[in-house]
Amino acid sequence: MVQISIVIPFLNEEESLPELYRWIKQVMAERDFSYEIIFVDDGSSDGSWKIIEDIQFNDAAVKAVKFRRNYGKSAALNVGFEHTSGDVVITMDADLQDSPDEIPDLYDMIISQGYDLVSGWKKKRFDPLSKTIPTKIYNGVTRWMTGIKLHDMNCGLKAYRSEVVKTIEVYGEMHRYIPVIAKWAGFTRIGEKEVQHQARKYGVTKFGLSRFLYGFLDLFSIMFMGKFGKRPMHFFGALGTLMNFLGFAILLYLSAAKLFLSATGIANRPLFFLGLLLIIVGFQLFITGFIAELVTRNATERNKYKIEKTI
Ligand code: UDP
Ligand code: MG
Repeated sequence: MVQISIVIPFLNEEESLPELYRWIKQVMAERDFSYEIIFVDDGSSDGSWKIIEDIQFNDAAVKAVKFRRNYGKSAALNVGFEHTSGDVVITMDADLQDSPDEIPDLYDMIISQGYDLVSGWKKKRFDPLSKTIPTKIYNGVTRWMTGIKLHDMNCGLKAYRSEVVKTIEVYGEMHRYIPVIAKWAGFTRIGEKEVQHQARKYGVTKFGLSRFLYGFLDLFSIMFMGKFGKRPMHFFGALGTLMNFLGFAILLYLSAAKLFLSATGIANRPLFFLGLLLIIVGFQLFITGFIAELVTRNATERNKYKIEKTI
C-alpha cells in the first residue's frame, strides 16, 4: 500500500535534482510515509537523466520515465499520473521553488478533510514582476470564467485524490488548468493551501512570455470542450439561429419599407449589408455546427463518460 506518489516533471534541472530528492526523502521519513517518487524527464539535454538513473538504481521507491524529446509539462504529468499507485498523488516542480515540507499537510487535507484536489497558493512569490503581474490577471480571468475560486491555478505543487489523476487527461499546455479539467470531470471538492515559495536557485525558467497567450487560448478550449464538447451544435446552432433571425428581421423590414413606403436606395443602406452579413455568417455557423457534430460522432472520445461507480 502506497500512501503518497510524488510526480516530478523536469527539463534540464541537473543542479536541483539531487537536493530535491534528499529533501523529499527526509520529509517522508519524518512521518514514516509509504511513498514513491516518479520522475519524468521531459527530454532533458543536460546530465539530469544520469542523476535520476543513479538515484533510481539505489532506491526502490523511485520510478523514472524518460521522453525521447521535449513534449511539455502537461505530457510529462500525464505519463507520471499513469504510473502512480498511491492513494494521494502530489505533483511538484523539480527546480526547488516548491517545498517538500508542504507534502504532509497536503496529504492530510485530501485524506481527512475530503478534498479531491488541493492546489498550492504561492501567496508570497519570489518571481520577477514580469511574471507575477500577468499571473494575477490570468488568475482573475480564470476565476471569473470558471467559477473556481483559486488564487494560484497553475501552482506546480498540488495534491490529488488518486481517482482524479486516473480519470482526467492532461495534454498540450493544459497543466495550467488541471483544477478546471478536474471540475468538469466531476471532482468539485477543490481546496487551496498557502505554500512556501522560493526563488529559483539554479538554472532558468523553461517557459517564456508565450505562456500567457497560449494560456488564454487554452482556457477558451477548455471552457468550450467542457460545456459543448459533446454537443457542439448547441453552441454554433444557437449563435447561428440568433444571427439568422436578426438578419432576416432586418431584410424583412427593408423589404417592407420598399414595398409599402416606396423607399429607394435600400441596397445602399448600411443596414442592408448588416442584414446580409448576419444571414451569411449565421448560416455558416450552422454548417460549422453540423460538421462539429460529425466530428464528435466519429471521435474516439465518443461515449466516454466519467463513471464514478457501477454496482
Ligand atoms: N518543465 C517540464 N517540461 C517543460 C517545461 C518545464 O517538465 O517543457 C518542468 C521544469 O523542469 C520544472 C517545472 O516544469 O520542474 C516548472 O517549470 P519552470 O520552473 O521553468 O516554470 P516557472 O516556475 O518559471 O513557471
Ligand atoms: Mg519554477
